[in-house]
Amino acid sequence: MSSYAPPVQRLVTELSKLPGVGSRTAQRLAFHILRASDEDATALAGAITDVKQTIGLCEVCFNLTDEPRCRICSDTRRDHGLICVVEEASDVIPMERMHEYDGVYHVLGGALSPIDGVDPEDLKIAELLARVGNGADGDGADAGPVREVVLATNPTTTGEATALHIAQELRERSPQVIVSRLASGLPMGSDLEYADEVTLGKAFAGRRAL
Ligand SMILES: [Zn+2]
Repeated sequence: MSSYAPPVQRLVTELSKLPGVGSRTAQRLAFHILRASDEDATALAGAITDVKQTIGLCEVCFNLTDEPRCRICSDTRRDHGLICVVEEASDVIPMERMHEYDGVYHVLGGALSPIDGVDPEDLKIAELLARVGNGADGDGADAGPVREVVLATNPTTTGEATALHIAQELRERSPQVIVSRLASGLPMGSDLEYADEVTLGKAFAGRRAL
């Protein structure tokens, strides 16, 4: 390992921090980058710097965006009275791919997992409760009230626990709002991110009130 020149070792170390990349893959990627043209290598480095500098979280839903408000929250044709709650920004992609959902989102930033030290205050749960309590866009502007919150956290132990926690909080604070959960049919223990749009479409259509 340490027989590499320090800059190469540094690249291998950084690459091996990526999910699913072990030290062998990190070495392979590092050598690929070393062999790449200056243009390609610089484009890769630039893309990483650029995404970190320009992409932030939407002030309303916490989805990824390069504006204060994301494209979905800014879209007045979408139903702002229907909020789909997901764990990660990557979960918005399969929901959008099914082309059946015209509401908006709320990205929690993870799932409750006391064992891993993830408590309600580590997620955007308070922000969701405030958003539902204040009207669709959280600022009381002409968007109207929230009618329904669809809990689309993953069908895993932590995802289920998160859905139950949020359902309970919403029932106490905003009893007039319908709280629903995606129907079963999504493979247990899997991530929404990997669901195909037909399965997800069925799970959405068959959502049940909690
Ligand atoms: Zn947004």
